[in-house]
Amino acid sequence: MTKLTDLTVVQALNGLKNKEFSAVELVHAHIDGMQKAACLNAFITETPELALAQARVSDARRASGHAKALDGIPLAIKDLFCTRGIRTTSASKMLENFVPPYESTITQKLLDAGAVTLGKTNLDEFAMGSTTATSYFKPTINPWTEGDILGAKRKLIPGGSSGGSAAAVAARIALAALGTDTGGSIRQPASLTGTVGIKPTYGRCSRFGIVAFASSLDQAGPMTRNVEDAALMLKLMSGFDEKDSMSVDIPVPDYTQALGKGVKGLKIGIPSEYRIKGMNADVDAVWQKAADMLKAAGAEVMDITLPHTKYALPVYYIIAPAEASSNFAKYDGVRFGLRVNGESLNDMYDMTRSEGFGKEVQRRIMIGTYVLSAGYYDAYYLRAQQVRRLIRQDFINAFKKCDVILTPAAPSPAFAIEEKQKDPLQLYLEDVFTVTLNLAGLPGICLPVGLSSEKLPIGMQLIGKAFDEETLISAARSLEESANFTHKPLFTV
Ligand code: GLN
Repeated sequence: MTKLTDLTVVQALNGLKNKEFSAVELVHAHIDGMQKAACLNAFITETPELALAQARVSDARRASGHAKALDGIPLAIKDLFCTRGIRTTSASKMLENFVPPYESTITQKLLDAGAVTLGKTNLDEFAMGSTTATSYFKPTINPWTEGDILGAKRKLIPGGSSGGSAAAVAARIALAALGTDTGGSIRQPASLTGTVGIKPTYGRCSRFGIVAFASSLDQAGPMTRNVEDAALMLKLMSGFDEKDSMSVDIPVPDYTQALGKGVKGLKIGIPSEYRIKGMNADVDAVWQKAADMLKAAGAEVMDITLPHTKYALPVYYIIAPAEASSNFAKYDGVRFGLRVNGESLNDMYDMTRSEGFGKEVQRRIMIGTYVLSAGYYDAYYLRAQQVRRLIRQDFINAFKKCDVILTPAAPSPAFAIEEKQKDPLQLYLEDVFTVTLNLAGLPGICLPVGLSSEKLPIGMQLIGKAFDEETLISAARSLEESANFTHKPLFTV
């Protein structure tokens, strides 16, 4: 029999239904895995007792004939989702001891569906980053790292900011996980760990109870080991929420119905602007391979143009910090989290914020405050919003010709932190293929398609029309079938 930790969510649900194992057994296997994988630092807070208690309740519910959609499935939750009674740190010293009195809408939906919480996963501080190395806690290690994890010469990062969730799913610690994506934080780590991640259309999943980074860009999404599980998770996470003012009140389709639809007759666009200078040759080759696979499966592959792509990174790195600087005003030592006392009120603010926030967060707050300040607001922020509209318009024009767009999700496979850390601009480049979607509010999925010459996973991104996650899922499922990516990380539990 397949190891319990190697099952997919759908397989595990079937096993539970057919009484091949109990939820307690399934959860035990994952708790053991979580202990074995401690070297990865995938979690900030582990909740094994809670998980077992939830599993026992789940078993009882199943025995009484009232099993729910996700009953007994152990999940890992990015530590940006507020969880009632469970510490929620955002990987920051600022919130090191913050225990929320309420639950985020999405985690509540999953709990209502019977899911089990293994713990809270590591991330870049306040979700700012692409490595999970800016966490106030230890950095997460990518399970694709070669050799003994602790002694490895070249410790790879799992991408970020949802790197803990990605590592947990890749290493088989959790059957699935929750991530958030403001500029690529679900798709880029999925690409670097050989997992599947969806960033839904803005407004599809409630942001209520997720620690805000950049409110007009933030979306939550599932991280899984295949497209089917992602479709199931997304269905359970989606839907209108009156507690999120940007939540959209339209019906949620059953995404799992889209899985078998295939790509016959579907038009797949390849944007020439994404073929960037100095692009990693392996990534380029896998991109070509993916296009060929979709063509062989019956899709029509065509060149398209997204002319304002080159402005996406600068626009993102104006808008995201601007919104963050405003969102972060609340961390003042009075209302939330850390307080460092000073001689005066201003002193207290200063000391709290200097000590509570790491370097990258401080950098973003400074950029954000600058671009919003009198005199620069028009020159930067307003201009960025205008260009954002042009980027969105590019996609609207492109989608008159094609149904789905195919691009890489990250410019390179996983790397060691030392290789890019010195220059923040190098790290901002990690987002080059992903931020455009957040700026345009569109859905995207990343799935593993090939390996690099160093035997590291390379994921491809499919971009869809707003609220057309279904077509995205059909196309992703078809590509997944053709790619048949069965490689596992070197470290699994
Ligand atoms: N890497 C991007 C950033 O640093 C995106 C982060 C995210 O999506 N949360 O802002």
